Amino acid sequence: MRTPVLSFRRKVLLSLALVAATLSAGALLVTLQLSRIRVDAMRVREETRESLQARELLARIRSLEADLGDLAKDGLAVRNLHSELVDMRRQLEGLLGHSSEKDPSRESHQAEEDRLVTELLTDFGSVIDHLHGPLQEETRAELDQVLTRILRFASVLSGEMFEESESAIEDLVDRSRAARGVTLAVGACVLVVFLFFAWMLYRDVVVPILEIRDVALRFGAGATEDRLRIRRPDELGELARTFNEMADRIVEKQQVLEARVEQRTRELIRTSRFADLGILAAGLAHEINNPLASIASCAEGLQKRAARGELDELGDYLQTIASEAWRAKDITSRLLELARPAPRTRGEFELGQLFRHVERMLGTLVEKEGKRFVVEPPEDGIRVGCPGDEMIQVLVNLVRNAMDASPAGSEIRLAGRRRDDRVAIEVQDRGPGIPEEDRARIFDPFYTTKEPGKGTGLGLSVASAIVESHGGSFEVEDRLGGGACFRILLPPAGKEAA
Ligand code: ADP
Repeated sequence: MRTPVLSFRRKVLLSLALVAATLSAGALLVTLQLSRIRVDAMRVREETRESLQARELLARIRSLEADLGDLAKDGLAVRNLHSELVDMRRQLEGLLGHSSEKDPSRESHQAEEDRLVTELLTDFGSVIDHLHGPLQEETRAELDQVLTRILRFASVLSGEMFEESESAIEDLVDRSRAARGVTLAVGACVLVVFLFFAWMLYRDVVVPILEIRDVALRFGAGATEDRLRIRRPDELGELARTFNEMADRIVEKQQVLEARVEQRTRELIRTSRFADLGILAAGLAHEINNPLASIASCAEGLQKRAARGELDELGDYLQTIASEAWRAKDITSRLLELARPAPRTRGEFELGQLFRHVERMLGTLVEKEGKRFVVEPPEDGIRVGCPGDEMIQVLVNLVRNAMDASPAGSEIRLAGRRRDDRVAIEVQDRGPGIPEEDRARIFDPFYTTKEPGKGTGLGLSVASAIVESHGGSFEVEDRLGGGACFRILLPPAGKEAA
């Protein structure tokens, strides 16, 4: 088998690789977007937490500023302020504790945040250092100044952290929008590749397979000239080409076979014609030879006697010559009748009338031979679709055969009746009957079991040719009580075969 230019297997593998590559690229892009979204979400959480802490710190510093008036008189208030500030410093130090896992903030922003927190811590340190016992007037003024700076720094820090958390939220929203876009683009790509693959499968596999099926069905149903169109240089194209080649070979073989059958049939017909002709020629030669030999020997006898002047037996010799010549003529005319049957003539007869005619013709002849001719009068009005003279010829042949076969003193019976949609005419005798194995051969031309010179073997073949030409048939069976029964079945008048 030739290798296809672009094999279907290769196309499928290429398409699958394309689908796999698109899916992998899409999955990679979506995963990347998701991990960025995760980082952004962590950043939002951390920034929000820090922003809240900064606001709380700012609120606490503002309330401290309001309480500063009491500090001069009250040593207890100073101690409270001291512990409050220590607590706030610890909170501030917490803001410095940056972890890249929790807060993947931008470097620049983180540095700014750390700078502000460090400055605040320095100021907190100096305030805490001044808080030992009731405050002096100048210490209080200094403290005031430091607290104002702390307040300013804390406001800046809080604002910074708020802005940062806002920007983190915006980044997150942008990222999720981008992720949605990427997911949609990947989905569209996969859909396009999938649709292309399905279309290719339909065009390259489904359509050709359906076409192969249809052509194979039509080919099987006899449309042997149908062929597949070879459109693609792939495996299915190769299959179509192979199918067409196979169909060509089948048609070729069929034509060769048909030609052979035709030739054999012609040969068989020729052989069988030769065989038939051989049998016919042999029969004819045998039958004609006998009368010719008699005529020749009579003529020689006459010649010798004429030479000796003995012509007293002239009459006998001439009689033999004439009867043998007539016999030879009878054989040749019967043969002609059989070989070229006269064109079929239409006609009909009434059965009773025909029987009476046959009785008149043959009755005396049968009785002369010491046998009885019994004619059963048939039911009145049975009309048969065959010319009467042809049927008389048939019945004469049958009765003559019956006379030849019957022993002296026995009866020959002629009978007729309606049988189903036919008319049955029977000639029965008390002779030896016809053995089963001979029943098919007795209708062959020149088949005879009679002594040489007595039978021609043409009586039954002529009779059956006449009966068949009027749509009838012959049946031969044993007569009850011994003998033969010849039955002719003919259509009634008006129902002859067209
Ligand atoms: P032929 O009478 O000249 O022999 P047919 O064609 O009439 O030729 O008959 C063929 C043969 O059929 C006969 O030779 C005979 O052997 C056989 N046959 C015909 N009729 C009878 C009959 N009634 N009984 C026995 N044999 C018969």
